[in-house]
Amino acid sequence: MSKMYDVVIIGGGPGGYNCAIRAGQLGLKVACVEKRGRLGGTCLNVGCIPSKALLHASELFEAAGRDFEGLGIRTGGLELDLPQMLKQKDEAVDGLTKGIEFLFKKNKVDYIRGLGRIAGAGKVEVEGEDGTETLETRHIVIATGSEVTPLPGVEIDEKRVVSSTGALSLESVPGKLVLIGAGVIGLELGSVWRRLGSEVVVVEYLDRILPGMDGELAKTAQRTFAKQGMEFHLSTKVTGVDTSGDRLNVSMEPAAGGESQTIEADTVLVCIGRRPYTQGLGLETVGIETDDRGFIAQDHFRTSAENVWVVGDCTHGPMLAHKAEDEGVACAERIAGKAGHVNYGVIPGVVYTSPEIAAVGKTEEELKAEGRKYKKGKFPFQANSRARTNHATDGFVKILADAETDEILGAHLIGVNVGEMIAELCLAMEFQAASEDVARTCHPHPTLTEAIRQAAMGVEGWTMQA
Ligand code: FAD
Ligand code: NAD
Repeated sequence: MSKMYDVVIIGGGPGGYNCAIRAGQLGLKVACVEKRGRLGGTCLNVGCIPSKALLHASELFEAAGRDFEGLGIRTGGLELDLPQMLKQKDEAVDGLTKGIEFLFKKNKVDYIRGLGRIAGAGKVEVEGEDGTETLETRHIVIATGSEVTPLPGVEIDEKRVVSSTGALSLESVPGKLVLIGAGVIGLELGSVWRRLGSEVVVVEYLDRILPGMDGELAKTAQRTFAKQGMEFHLSTKVTGVDTSGDRLNVSMEPAAGGESQTIEADTVLVCIGRRPYTQGLGLETVGIETDDRGFIAQDHFRTSAENVWVVGDCTHGPMLAHKAEDEGVACAERIAGKAGHVNYGVIPGVVYTSPEIAAVGKTEEELKAEGRKYKKGKFPFQANSRARTNHATDGFVKILADAETDEILGAHLIGVNVGEMIAELCLAMEFQAASEDVARTCHPHPTLTEAIRQAAMGVEGWTMQA
């Protein structure tokens, strides 16, 4: 027997579960189909949450061994209990995934466990443990997310050659860890294992790390990570990983071609990006085509098929949980006849390393390419009193504003806690604030946020503390 819904969402990650909850709040009859057996998607299960749990624990471990004594704190012998560190990470994940199940119940969302597939207009077939059922629905939302991009010639076994998923659960600290790709995952998970004792070597195809982020930010970040002990091979490609011996042999050569070299490693992490997960979804039954990279195109979340919508990593834009979440919410609102929208100009990006890296809006490179005249204010944490008391003086805040109107166009931060601090600038940009609005807003003293105010003052040349 088939069930009738207003909305059936395929995928229970940040895009899907937020869409489901919002649809429930708006009084729609909604079901969310998820195949992994747990809600929360990549983000909660094998992404944002477990990685941040390990980043937090490993940061404290490193600080205890490196910084505590200087602060007058003697701890005695310091020892790593890796099983406990992994357990507390799993507990954080468990608690949060169960929290979504609770929110589903509260908002009358049917959680349907199984593999979903579109079976023509208004029909979703679900293959579950107890067989196949068909859900009938007025609207379908595709929120199937993304998966690891494989590297041809390098087979991931999730033991010695791992993706981010394996790197979140290594049973011991690798002696030497080679990262293929100097993007967000490489730098975050590389930081975790370096802090716990691994020698970390990063191989990056491009001539810079963190492509897409502001160049000055990326350069400062690379210098800082190198000081922490990471070794970088830029403009270099991995051509193969030989797994036949006790240790791995990683072959690499200059990206432009040239002499190859081999380095040994205990673990290799392949982190060269993620790709949309849109295979086997029955898209052809409603006439949707993906682009050559597998993304589904949308206009205000509507696909080319009537009443079929798409949100999150499987459509274009940054592959970030909060972007997926915002799209999910706005999509539910549109289905309910409201005017949900996402401001793609104000989607922050944070790299949760130490120091953290945070950015929103346009980079200097983008503004130059657009020929847009801008002013810049920059303030170093070296001159911020709270950063001094906390012995965390690496980094800076940079604010870019329109040369004529003074509207903030972008902000780029590196330093302790900037992942939290960037929200102030997102809010300012959402309200189309001028840099002067931030510069004239009273900020508490002594806090790191004063560096934001000082950078904003710097746009008009009246920085006071440096
Ligand atoms: P997903 O979270 O991938 O969810 C899609 C869900 O759909 C999955 O659970 C999948 O099982 C399910 N599904 C797929 N096909 C079907 C089907 N046919 N039937 C039923 N179910 C299906 N982003 C941040 O913003 N901040 C971070 O700190 C951050 N850290 C990350 C760390 C790592 C290691 C990784 C890998 C990613 C990280 N991300 C982070 C990215 C973030 O996880 C994604 O952008 C986000 O999860 C995308 O949400 P989504 O709902 O589009 O897709
Ligand atoms: P990424 O796109 O951030 O970085 C991939 C890196 O690999 C790039 O620098 C790229 O130039 C490089 N690369 C590509 N092919 C290569 C090759 N053959 N050899 C060497 N280098 C190569 O991808 P990622 O780090 O895998 O992360 C995937 C996605 O997950 C990202 O889109 C990111 O937004 C998301 N994520 C976000 C967070 C966060 O917000 N804190 C954390 C983790 C992941």
